[in-house]
Parts: sequence; C-alpha cells; structure tokens
Amino acid sequence: MENQKTKGQLLEEEILYKGMDGAEMFTEEEYQKAVEFSEKYKQFLSCAKTEREAVKVAIEMLERDGYRPFESGKRYESGEKIYQNNRNKSLIFATIGRRPVSEGVRIMASHIDSPRIDLKPHPLMEDSSLAYLRTHYYGGIKKFHWPTLPLALHGVVCRKDGTSVTVTIGEEPAEPVFCITDLLPHLASEQEKKPASKVFDAEKFNILVGSLPFKDDKASEKVKLNIMRLFHEKYGIVEGDFMSAELTMVPAGPARDVGLDQSMIGSYGHDDRVCAYTSLRAAMEADSPEYTHVTVLADKEETGSDGNTGMKSAFLKYFLEDLAAPYGIPVRTVLSNSKCFSADVNCAYDPTYPDVTEKSNTSQLNHGVVITKYTGSGGKGGTNDASAEYMAWVRALLDKSDVLWQTGELGKVDVGGGGTVAKFISELNVDTVDLGVPVLSMHAPFEIVSKIDVYSTYRAFLAFAGKE
Ligand code: MN
Ligand code: MN
Repeated sequence: MENQKTKGQLLEEEILYKGMDGAEMFTEEEYQKAVEFSEKYKQFLSCAKTEREAVKVAIEMLERDGYRPFESGKRYESGEKIYQNNRNKSLIFATIGRRPVSEGVRIMASHIDSPRIDLKPHPLMEDSSLAYLRTHYYGGIKKFHWPTLPLALHGVVCRKDGTSVTVTIGEEPAEPVFCITDLLPHLASEQEKKPASKVFDAEKFNILVGSLPFKDDKASEKVKLNIMRLFHEKYGIVEGDFMSAELTMVPAGPARDVGLDQSMIGSYGHDDRVCAYTSLRAAMEADSPEYTHVTVLADKEETGSDGNTGMKSAFLKYFLEDLAAPYGIPVRTVLSNSKCFSADVNCAYDPTYPDVTEKSNTSQLNHGVVITKYTGSGGKGGTNDASAEYMAWVRALLDKSDVLWQTGELGKVDVGGGGTVAKFISELNVDTVDLGVPVLSMHAPFEIVSKIDVYSTYRAFLAFAGKE
C-alpha cells in the first residue's frame, strides 16, 4: 500500500510539466555517443576560429561527403548534394529531398563569426622600442577579458596583384603568441576605481609583437622595421598590404575538456560554431530526406548581420531562387512553405549570477537543446517570436525523436537582451524558431558548453533534416 500513488501524485504526472535532466536520463551508452561526438567537435573548434577557417573546414568535410559546387540553372534530383561558397566567409549547402521544393525546405541557419580583436588597416607601430599592432574589436566583448591572454593571429592578406596569403601564428606549441598588457596591481589603485566597462580603453588595445631592433644606424623605427621584415620573410607581404587584409587576434590554443568528470567543453567561439558544427554533421547524415534541407553558415551575426556575407544579405534568397527556377517555381512559394531552425546559443543558468535570470524560464546545462521562442529586449523589441502553432510542431518533432530539449529566455525581463539571425529569415515569410546550445560565460574568450547539450542539439537537427 505504501508504494501506491496518491490521487494528487497521479494528477501531477498527468497534467504538470516536468523538465528533464539529461545527466540523470542519459544511459551510459548514450553518454558515450555524446563524448565521441564532442571529440570531433573539439577538433573542428580548434581549427575553425574565424568564419573563413570554418568555411574552409566545412567545405573539406562536405567535399569528402560527396557535396559539389552548386550550378545555377541545373535541375537537381532527389539525394543530390550541393554547396555554394559566399566569398569564403559564409556558406550554404543543401541535400535535395524527395518532395518538390514548392512544398518548402528545411533551413538550419547558424553563424560562424565570433567576438574578437581585429587589426586596424594601419596596425604596425613602435613605441619606446617595443612593436605593437593597433586593433579595433569586433562584436560584443567585455574588454577586461582580453588583456594578458595568450593570443593567436589569424586571417588573410590580399595583395594588389590578386594573390593572397593565409596567416596563422600562435596555435602550434613551438609558435609564439601575442598579448595585450595590463598594469601591475601595485600601481593600479586609480585603474581599479573605474567601472569595469571603463578599465580598458579600446583605443589602447595594442598587441605586443616584438622588442628587438633591426641592426642599422640610420633607420628610424628599428623594432617596427624588424617585425615587418619577419612578416615579409614569412608571408611575402609589405606594410601596405595590411590595408587589404582581414587579420584578427583570437585566444590561442585548442578546445579543452572542463571538469574532473570531463562533462563539459571549454573553448573560444562556441557561439556559434557549436550550432554550425552540429547542423553540418546532421545535414551530412540526413542524405535521403523527405524535404530538401538547406544549411546556412552565416558571417557578421556578432555585428548585426549586415554586409553581403551576413544574414540580412539576399544570398539565401538568391540561392533558393536559383534552385527552384529550373522547375518553374517562384522563390516566394518555396520560402512561404519553409521551416527554419535559427541555430544559435542561449545563456545557461549560472548559479553564481542568479539575479539576471528567472530560473524556471532559463536553460540549464545538461538539460538538452534549448528552444527560444523569442529573443529581443524590453517588451520583446526586435524579435522573431515563433508562433504557438510552430512551437507545437517543434515540440512534437523533438519528442517523437526522443531528443532531450528545454526552453529558455535570454535573461530576466528588462535586464538586457539580444538577437539572432531568426528575424532576418522570418522576414522572408518562413516559420522560424531559435534553437541551440546553452552556454556559460557566453562571449568570453573561454566559453563553456556541456557534451550532453551539444549531442542533443545535433540530434534535434537530425530530426529536423529528416534523418530516417
Ligand atoms: Mn550567436
Ligand atoms: Mn553572440
């Protein structure tokens, strides 16, 4: 009799919602799959630290999997796999489904740019016999995170003759790293009185790159000259070439396991390469889908999705238009019948900072992929707000596929807010919802996600892309 449930307990089970904790629910076998998936993800993260690197690595993976460059005007058959490289900074790829594209496509859209420290067009300078690179930061950073951190230089330099050279310094153990210096605590009493946002002046975010002079009696800035000589020897570039370059400083070193139980991954750039990688892997595996699935890896989300490689650009619309044209189908028909997972991270509940979130409406680590009905700020300003109908469709899809999922808001009402690419895709009359991985320390140089959540997000994309 003791074990018999009371009326109240039975009613609770029937009508109250109970969240799921993956750390409790995952079997040992499932958890091992999450660990194995995460090993591959860490490799991807460690060699895809900029949008250009992410595009390059993704194309290598797609080519190995049988994807071929998209040919406009060609009629593609079910099962064919295509990709379109947008200026080496964003990427679209698709697998043709059994149903005609007039019935809509499944769009998975993430972004592959992350906050970082870009170099200015005239970066190299010398002061007091030390050489520095001047910078202009990119995206939403807390400036006090970046000084005294080992930094690596990544990017591309394009010369006037049309040739270009790829730059990576600071990732191999034998290579040097770079750094923004900070004041010693002994002399920092005035500095430490300033509010955190004012402690570091972005105009003084100069990267220390050298201290030895070029041995010559007549030359003026000899340390600068010596550093430019080293750039010239290694990459064949001259100072003027910095004006046509995209060079950036990112945290040096690979992604690492976090925790004695190794249940989490710490790295630069989870936001949003964690959604890029999970959607990429799912797309490659869903190779005979019912509906055509289209995956977008976008640039420029961290600065507002502007520019021709950002999600405000027409490149997705043009791609779908070109895909549908040989069948005589207008792109608006395709878009109006399509569904989208706007794949981006959300803030995980952090017990160290409980005041900024409302716990029951915040995603938690290890509770699975997070569905975010709306983002924005204030009274839901500037958001795609997924419809109740579409939310119901997503719930049913994920439950049917046994995907561990939860919902989350981006912080308490009126505390702050943020946005994703969702609103730019829903503007095209596509049913869109935000979905992704909960992150601790989002936008910090070392962000944290859980392996269970990464794996659950991949499984959500598999279900969406129609993996059978
Ligand atoms: Mn993001
Ligand atoms: Mn972000």
